[in-house]
Amino acid sequence: MLYNLQRYCIHDGQGIRDTVFLKGCQMRCPWCANPESQLGGRQIAFNKNKCIGCGACVKACPKGKAAPEDIPAGCDLCGKCEYVCPREAIQIYGYDLTPDELVAEVMKDAPYFRKSDGGVTISGGEPTLQMDYIAEVFSKLHDLGIHTAIESHGHFSDAERERLIPLVDQFLIDLKHMDSAKQEEYTGFGNEQILKNMEALRDHGLVIRIPLVPGFNDDDENLTRSAAFAKKLDVPVHLLKFHNMASSKYESLGREYAYKNIKTQPQEELERMLKIFTDMGVEAQLGG
Ligand code: SF4
Ligand code: SF4
Repeated sequence: MLYNLQRYCIHDGQGIRDTVFLKGCQMRCPWCANPESQLGGRQIAFNKNKCIGCGACVKACPKGKAAPEDIPAGCDLCGKCEYVCPREAIQIYGYDLTPDELVAEVMKDAPYFRKSDGGVTISGGEPTLQMDYIAEVFSKLHDLGIHTAIESHGHFSDAERERLIPLVDQFLIDLKHMDSAKQEEYTGFGNEQILKNMEALRDHGLVIRIPLVPGFNDDDENLTRSAAFAKKLDVPVHLLKFHNMASSKYESLGREYAYKNIKTQPQEELERMLKIFTDMGVEAQLGG
C-alpha cells in the first residue's frame, strides 16, 4: 500500500527520480516528518485550517457524517467526502497499485531518469515491510534498465538484505543513534541489526543518512562516533536537518506532535556538525 508518489525528486538518490512512499513502519520515531506513513492501513485526516465550512462533505457522506471533523461510526473510508471537498481539507491516506501498475506509472518519467542518471526510489514508511512487493517492482525496473534506490530505517533481516542486494543500486539507510539503548528508548528498536546491515552493504551503494534530531542525536559525542563508523565503512554521509513542518499533519490525524515547538538548528551549528565529519575524512554533506 502506498500513500504518495512524488515525481521529479532530486534528494532521494542520484539524478532526477520518482519517489514512491509506502505505508507502514514498525518504528515510531517521535520526530517523524511523515506521520501519515506510520500506520499500515488506510486512514482519514481532516485539516481544520483548510476547511471553509461549506458542508459538502456532510451532504456527500453515506454514513451520516455530522460535521466536517466527524468520522461517523460506520465510516468505510469510501472517499466521497474527500472527493467533494473544494479545499482538500479531507485526505484519505493509502491506496493500492499492483507492481505492474506502479512500474507503468513511474515509466512515464523514464526519459527524465535516463537523461539525469536518475531512477526510482522506494521510501516509506518502511519499504521492507512490503518485501515481496518491492522486490517485484525493483526487479521489473531493473529489467527496464532503471536505476533503483531504497530509503529504509535499516532494521531488516540478513535474508531480506541478501534478497535486496541484486535488486537495489543505492541503499539510503538511517543511522539514528550509535547508542543502541538510546535508539531503542526513542524508536522501540536497538541499532545492532542496522549497523550489521550497513557493514554488509558498504560495497553495495550504501549512503548513511543521519536525521539531526535536536536533543536526541546531535551532540558531539554521538556525531563523532557516527563519523568514526562511516569512516570505517568508507561510505558517504548525508546529514538531514530537522524541521517541524509536519505539525499540521499530526493535528489533522488527531495526534500530538512531541516536536511541534522544536526549532531547526541554526545554520552555523549545522555547519559545525558537518565539520565533525569532514575533519575525520568522511565524505559528508548537509542535505540528501
Ligand atoms: S470516507 Fe466516506 S464514510 Fe467516511 S466520512 Fe468520508 S464520506 Fe463518510
Ligand atoms: S467539504 Fe471540505 S471545506 Fe467543505 S465543510 Fe467539508 S471539509 Fe470543510
